[in-house]
Amino acid sequence: MSGAGGAADFDRPGFGGPDFDGPGLLDGVASVLFVHAHPDDETISTGALIAELVARGIRVSLLTATRGEQGDVVPGPLSVLEGTDALTHEREQELQRAAETLGIAARFRLGERPARAGHLQRRVYRDSGMKWIRPGLAGPADDIDDDALVRAPLAEVAADVAALIAQLRPDLVISYDNGGGYGHPDHVRMHEATLAACRAESAPFAEVVHDPAPDAEWFALDRHLATVTAALRCHASQLTVDGAHIVHSGGQREPITLAVGLRAL
Ligand SMILES: [Zn+2]
Repeated sequence: MSGAGGAADFDRPGFGGPDFDGPGLLDGVASVLFVHAHPDDETISTGALIAELVARGIRVSLLTATRGEQGDVVPGPLSVLEGTDALTHEREQELQRAAETLGIAARFRLGERPARAGHLQRRVYRDSGMKWIRPGLAGPADDIDDDALVRAPLAEVAADVAALIAQLRPDLVISYDNGGGYGHPDHVRMHEATLAACRAESAPFAEVVHDPAPDAEWFALDRHLATVTAALRCHASQLTVDGAHIVHSGGQREPITLAVGLRAL
C-alpha cells in the first residue's frame, strides 16, 4: 500500500515541483535497479515509475527479497492456496507476469546468486508478515518465523544486495523510504539494507516518496495507467482492480499510484 499521490498541478514528467532545484535524478541514467520486499510492491508502489523509465529507454532490473508467503489471498478460486507452498509458486508466476507487463528486463531473488554474497549457500528470506497498528501504519506481526527477513542480520541482507549491485553496476538504485512507505517491517529492512549496500558499493540511491517535497523530484505519470492496471491484474492472489482503485485481499481500497517522488540520499 502507499499514499495516493495526486498533485495534478505537477503534470509534466520529471517536473520537480515548484521548490525542487536539484539536478534531475534520471539525467544520464541508463540502468536502474529497484529493490522491493514482496511480490506486488514493484507494481503498487513503483509500477508507473518503472513504466516511465522503460518508456525512456532505461534498462530496469528488479530485486525482490521475499516470496510474499505471509500475505492473505483474495477470496475466490485462489483461496485454497493460502498457507501452502503452492502459494509461493503462484506468487512467483504472478510476479514474473507483472514484471513482463511493466517491461522489466531482469529479475532477481535476494539470497540467490548473483544477489548472494561471497560463497554463502543460497538462502530464502521469508516474508515477515505485519499487523496494522492503526489505519495506514503497519508494525511487526505477533509471530515471526526464524527465517523471516527481519530476523536475518542486517549485514547479511545488505551484503546480498551489494553483491547484486556489484554485478549489475546500475546507474541508480531505488527502494523504499526509511518508513517503508507505510511501516511494513520488511520494507523498512530493505530500505536499511539497500542504503547500506549502496554506500558500500558507491552506488547512487534514491528513496521513493509519496508526497511532493522540496527535496524530491516528482513524477506525475497518469499516462501509464493502462500498463499499471494490467500489471496489477497479474497479482490476482493479492488484489483486484476496481476502476482506478486497488482492492486488497482484506478489502482495503487505495487509489492506483500514478505519481511518485524520488529523493536522493
Ligand atoms: Zn510489501
